[in-house]
Amino acid sequence: MNRIDLDSKFCCGCAACANICAHKAITMVEDSRGFIVPTINESKCVDCGLCKKVCDFKKGKLTENNTLHAYSLVNDAEIVKDSTSGGAFTALSDVILNEGGLIAGAIMEPDFTVHHVITKDSTIRNKMRGSKYVQSDMGNIYLTVKEELKGGKKVLFTGTPCQCAGIKSFFGDMYENLYIVDFLCHGVPNNKMFKEHIHFLEGQYRNKIVDFTFRDKRYGWNPYNNNNIFNAYGSVGTRLINQAYYSFFLRNLSLRDGCYNCKYRSLHRPSDITIADFWGIEKLTGEKNHTGVSLVLAHSEKGETILHRIRQLCTLTEYPFEKVAYRIALKPAPRPKELAVFWNTYNQKGYTTLVEKFFDNSLKKRIYYEIRKVAKRLILS
Ligand SMILES: Cc1cc2nc3c(=O)[nH]c(=O)nc-3n(C[C@H](O)[C@H](O)[C@H](O)COP(=O)(O)OP(=O)(O)OC[C@H]3O[C@@H](n4cnc5c(N)ncnc54)[C@H](O)[C@@H]3O)c2cc1C
Ligand code: SF4
Ligand code: SF4
Ligand code: SF4
Repeated sequence: MNRIDLDSKFCCGCAACANICAHKAITMVEDSRGFIVPTINESKCVDCGLCKKVCDFKKGKLTENNTLHAYSLVNDAEIVKDSTSGGAFTALSDVILNEGGLIAGAIMEPDFTVHHVITKDSTIRNKMRGSKYVQSDMGNIYLTVKEELKGGKKVLFTGTPCQCAGIKSFFGDMYENLYIVDFLCHGVPNNKMFKEHIHFLEGQYRNKIVDFTFRDKRYGWNPYNNNNIFNAYGSVGTRLINQAYYSFFLRNLSLRDGCYNCKYRSLHRPSDITIADFWGIEKLTGEKNHTGVSLVLAHSEKGETILHRIRQLCTLTEYPFEKVAYRIALKPAPRPKELAVFWNTYNQKGYTTLVEKFFDNSLKKRIYYEIRKVAKRLILS
């Protein structure tokens, strides 16, 4: 048989297969844990082999370093405040928007659905800002991007490395006007669990939650800063319990199966540009940065040309690759030993029990967390 293998260990959910199947034989559905996976309708499949051909995740790993140049990037202070790192995404997307192009990236809807959209509107682009540690549903974004590229528009696609690899494999070298930007990726939990976390917090706060930000910067730029929640009147939540979902993510417990086999944790990047948090930059500059700095890696001439055009918009400083290579993970996330118990608990007992069993919300931890918050506030004031 010529079609894709449906084993979830070797699938990242990029949906390239579903988008390429002209017979609409592949549908992306939610599995028992809540991850989006492909299924094949046998009666529609003509065994043409296109889905197997487009699936980059199952092909061999490329390991050679394809970075041409490495930079730190810091955007305007107001933009940095709303961005996860130094605002590299906004700088890159501004170039394309200013040239009449479109941006494809992940937004979070008011009902906390995270999905990819494409836009030429800077207000919608601004909603793409900020990391959402949830797998974004790609829907039929490949086909929408294709329409715009065919119409001669420039498109900047941003997403996880596996989504970028999906896009790259889908289009090949067909379009000069397609720019692909990935990031260094820890892995992704799913949207179902994230929505359950919101519901759980609504119970804890006895209030409707209307927004959620990961990596809120009010206590500065660091990997463990607060997830913040909002009700209709503004910010209400920086309690330790908000961090339960984020803690499962950081401890590699809630990731997609495919993330433990991820071939994109490599020096070879499936994109024109890679962006990331530039943790450890103080060792290179001698100064601590509290607001955020992006690491930017250019892998193609196309990537370099956008970077030339953003020099007026932000501060770009070049570093030798050897000095930044420590930021790139070369192995997939390790499988925690309690993984099977984690998912069995979730499937059998639900999210609230998962929090009780796998998240430390003890008095000792809460006191430590409050002291840490006050200390950060003092450092930043
Ligand atoms: C799931 C995930 C894991 C990450 N893991 C790491 C890591 O291990 N190390 C590291 O250095 N950086 C990681 N990042 C990237 C980092 O958090 C910043 O997004 C990156 O440094 C860009 O920051 P910025 O200031 O340029 O822009 P921001 O304005 O914060 O950029 C946001 C960009 O990320 C995209 N995006 C946001 N959420 C998602 C999503 N769920 N799926 C696909 N695209 C999304 C948006 O479309 C936009 O392009 C991760 C991001 C995500 C979403
Ligand atoms: S990795 Fe992407 S293309 Fe491959 S089977 Fe999974 S969803 Fe389809
Ligand atoms: S083999 Fe062809 S028809 Fe069958 S699912 Fe794959 S792309 Fe669709
Ligand atoms: S870790 Fe790999 S497989 Fe998982 S979301 Fe990131 S790029 Fe995709």
